[in-house]
Amino acid sequence: QAKAAGRGTVRFFRSDMEAVIAARAALEADLRDGLAQRQFLLHYQPQIDEHGAVFGVEALVRWQHPQRGMVPPGSFIGLAEVSGLIEPLGLWILRSACEQIAAWRDDPQRAHLLVAVNISARQLHHPEFVQQVATVLAETGADPQRLELELTESHLVEDVEGATAKMHSLKARGVRLSLDDFGTGYSSLNYLKRLPLDQLKIDQSFVRDLLLDANDLSIVKAIVDMGRNLKLNVLAEGVETQAQLDMLRQAGCKRYQGYLFCHPVPVDQLPTTYTPHPPHSELTA
Ligand code: C2E
Ligand code: MG
Ligand code: MG
Ligand code: MG
Repeated sequence: QAKAAGRGTVRFFRSDMEAVIAARAALEADLRDGLAQRQFLLHYQPQIDEHGAVFGVEALVRWQHPQRGMVPPGSFIGLAEVSGLIEPLGLWILRSACEQIAAWRDDPQRAHLLVAVNISARQLHHPEFVQQVATVLAETGADPQRLELELTESHLVEDVEGATAKMHSLKARGVRLSLDDFGTGYSSLNYLKRLPLDQLKIDQSFVRDLLLDANDLSIVKAIVDMGRNLKLNVLAEGVETQAQLDMLRQAGCKRYQGYLFCHPVPVDQLPTTYTPHPPHSELTA
């Protein structure tokens, strides 16, 4: 009996695996078509400074599929990476973001905005990556100083020397660099201090439980201190509540991004400033 059930389980498992593989193949084919048919678009999420001003926006890719609907990046970026499609997709994302920078050049409300672009490890490790960035900047006419590339600690694991060298040459071209999801990966302080970074982004997992978990508060404070010592800006991601914002302020964090302020939105819905939920004293003053 057990044996029969076992065999059945194996057979079920195998067809299950086949289904997964078929679904992945279908998704990959759809991704390829989606690129050709321009089904991708960028949404932007504001980044807010301590005064409530929007100083930057993060570009977040969206896939508007005719049947699947709006597919979130978490469901396709991984597959785009393993299939290699991240290279053309990533280039499209970079170009769109740079076109946006160029389009804002004469807009007094938006010309100052930084535009942050997520770069996958596979893109960074492409031998031509720095040249690709330079070409896109030149072709779009975007000011390199307005472009910020978001990397993660995982970019550095594979080839620290190579990644560091590329970061230096991007920096030399005026591009800003930010370390995304900071705290979740493997960070040696020793190489952190040698990277030409402008900003650390505290991962949203530390912000989520800030009020519940004293460890998370300690981690946030440690990252803020580290940023101060290394002369880096520190931005907290995933800020959803006023209470989290208050805690972050108390911990010395001065830059924020999250649903409390604004969800990622199409470019024409971007606010230029955010009127913070004022502290109580300001409400009554
Ligand atoms: P990420 O770069 O860390 O982006 C932050 C994610 O958190 C975004 O999810 C954003 O919509 C979400 N988020 C923002 N505020 C809040 C909040 O207050 N609460 C919560 N719970 N979430 C919030 P999204 O757009 O689904 O992107 C997920 C991940 O996919 C990104 O994480 C990034 O790793 C990747 N990704 C997104 N766009 C791109 C892209 O253009 N290129 C590459 N290579 N990766 C991308
Ligand atoms: Mg990011
Ligand atoms: Mg992040
Ligand atoms: Mg993330």
